[in-house]
Amino acid sequence: MVELRLSGVRKEYDGVTALNDVSLRVADGEFFTLVGPSGCGKTTTLRAIAGFEDLTAGTVRFGDREMAGVPPEERGVGLVFQNYALFPHMTVAENVGYGLRFRDPPGAMTDEERVLDLLELVDLDGFEGRDPDELSGGQQQRVALARALAPGPDLLLLDEPMSALDARLRDDLRTQVSRIQSDLGITTVYVTHDQEEALAISDRVAVMNDGRIEQVGRPEDVYRRPESRFVAEFVGENNLFSGETRAHETRGSLVAVRGHEFLVPGSTADSVTFCVRPEALRLGGGENAFSATVETVEFLGEAFRVHLDWDGKPITLRVPEAPDDEGVRVGFDPDDVHVIDGGTADIVEQR
Ligand code: ADP
Ligand code: MG
Repeated sequence: MVELRLSGVRKEYDGVTALNDVSLRVADGEFFTLVGPSGCGKTTTLRAIAGFEDLTAGTVRFGDREMAGVPPEERGVGLVFQNYALFPHMTVAENVGYGLRFRDPPGAMTDEERVLDLLELVDLDGFEGRDPDELSGGQQQRVALARALAPGPDLLLLDEPMSALDARLRDDLRTQVSRIQSDLGITTVYVTHDQEEALAISDRVAVMNDGRIEQVGRPEDVYRRPESRFVAEFVGENNLFSGETRAHETRGSLVAVRGHEFLVPGSTADSVTFCVRPEALRLGGGENAFSATVETVEFLGEAFRVHLDWDGKPITLRVPEAPDDEGVRVGFDPDDVHVIDGGTADIVEQR
C-alpha cells in the first residue's frame, strides 16, 4: 500500500485550466473522496494520478517516489470507471483473469485460485462462467472492481463507479465497496459528484470547485464546518444569511439580516455570512426567531422537509412534524450557527 501526495498540480488544455494548483495527501490505507460538480476537475485529477496526463506543473508522489515519466502500467494502480468496460466476449472469470496478466510477481496462488478468491471478495462466487450481459449493472461493476484488484495494486482509483446504477443498486454497491476497501486496507481515491455518497463512504473528502480544492476534511467536519459559501451550499442543504454587525454582546454579535437581528457567536467582523442547517431550524421560535410562510412540505420518511418563504428569501427546514399553519415562527439556537465569512478565524488570518 502507499501514501499518495499531489503538490501544486496544474493541468491546462489549450486555454482551459482543468486543475489549478491542486495539493493533497492521501494516507496509506485511507478511503479518500474527490467530490464536486461536473467539470470541476475530478476525472483529470484521477488521470493525473494514474499517469494518463502530462502535468502543466506540479508533482505526483507515491510514497517517496516521484511519478513524472512513469507510465500508467508501471504505477501499480487499479482503475474502475463509470461505464463497466468489461470485455463483452469474455466470461466473468476471463475478465477478472485478464487483470492477472499484470500481476507481478505471480504470487502463491494459481491464476484460477486467485480469480475465485477475487470473485468471493466481491460476492460473486458461482458467477465465473457467466457472460457480462447476463449480469446486472451492479454485478458488472463488482467484476470490474475484481479485475482492477487482480494484479494487487497499491492504489485503487474509482471514477463515479455507481453513477450509471439505480438508487437501490447504488446503495448495495456502496456498502460492498466500503467493506472491500477496509478488508484490503488499500489506499483508495474515489470520485463522485454525489455529496451524500461522498459523506457516507469516505474517511476524508476533498470538495472541488472549478479546478481547485475548496476544503479537505472528515465528512462530519466538512458538513458541520464548511469553510466557504460553495462548500456550505454544495455539501448537504444549508441556509445562508449575510448581514451587518450592529452590536457586540458577551455571547456574540448582533447581526442584522433583512432588518432582523440575530445573535451570532464566533464573529467580530462588520460584515458576516453564517449558515444554519435545515435540521437546526425549529418551528415555534426560540432565541433567533423570525416569521415566515410555508411554501411546500415534503415527507422524507424520517422527517419532513419544509420550504419556507421569508420575505422573498427561501429557507429550508427539516422537522419531525409538518407545520399545521401556513404562517410559522422559526428559530435557531445561537450554538447551531456556523460562521463562514467574518469569523474570528478569518480575522486572525488577515493579520
Ligand atoms: P469532472 O470529472 O469533475 O466532471 P473533468 O476533470 O473531466 O471534470 O474536467 C475538468 C475540466 O477540464 C472541464 O472544464 C473539462 O471540459 C476540461 N477537460 C477535461 N478533459 C479535457 C480535454 N481532453 N481537452 C480539453 N478540455 C478538457
Ligand atoms: Mg468526471
